[in-house]
Amino acid sequence: MTKGQAFDGVASWEELEASPGYPPGGKVPGRRVAVIECVQEIPCNPCETACKQGAITVGTPITSLPSLDVDKCTGCGLCVAKCPGLAIFVVDLTGEDGKGAVVEFPYEYQPLPEVGEGVFVVNRQGEVIGEGIVKKSVRPKAYDKTGVVGVEVSPSLAAEARSIKRR
Ligand code: SF4
Ligand code: SF4
Repeated sequence: MTKGQAFDGVASWEELEASPGYPPGGKVPGRRVAVIECVQEIPCNPCETACKQGAITVGTPITSLPSLDVDKCTGCGLCVAKCPGLAIFVVDLTGEDGKGAVVEFPYEYQPLPEVGEGVFVVNRQGEVIGEGIVKKSVRPKAYDKTGVVGVEVSPSLAAEARSIKRR
């Protein structure tokens, strides 16, 4: 294998599609939903305890990969801030005002970007793949110093856009 978590530290599409944390077949439904990009069997489960809907299960042993029950997930985003591995995102393919898709991700830099700010969007490797507009930028107390930023992007970028680079 020349791609993937074990090879270069970045999950490949094959790993994500096969992961129980991804919507079945890697297909994100047309509404807000979490996508869990956690493909390493590590002893960790804050995602499971964070989800009030019971949509995430790690279970026993604690090294099991988290699985997502898409039908239970409301896309609330709490798990995004609670994952120490920064491995959970919320994707909304319905877009806002019909303009595009929205991808929400954890953001641990200071300061937070401004809502309405134009930014570059980057993929899992940190490479710039396009541009977007910040639609959400929050760091409430309950998020324990981790911010959550949402950026509107072209729907064609939603599967790859996973963070931003400010201009
Ligand atoms: S987005 Fe909300 S409902 Fe969905 S898995 Fe995360 S915490 Fe649970
Ligand atoms: S909290 Fe994050 S790193 Fe830990 S098991 Fe859940 S998704 Fe994986």
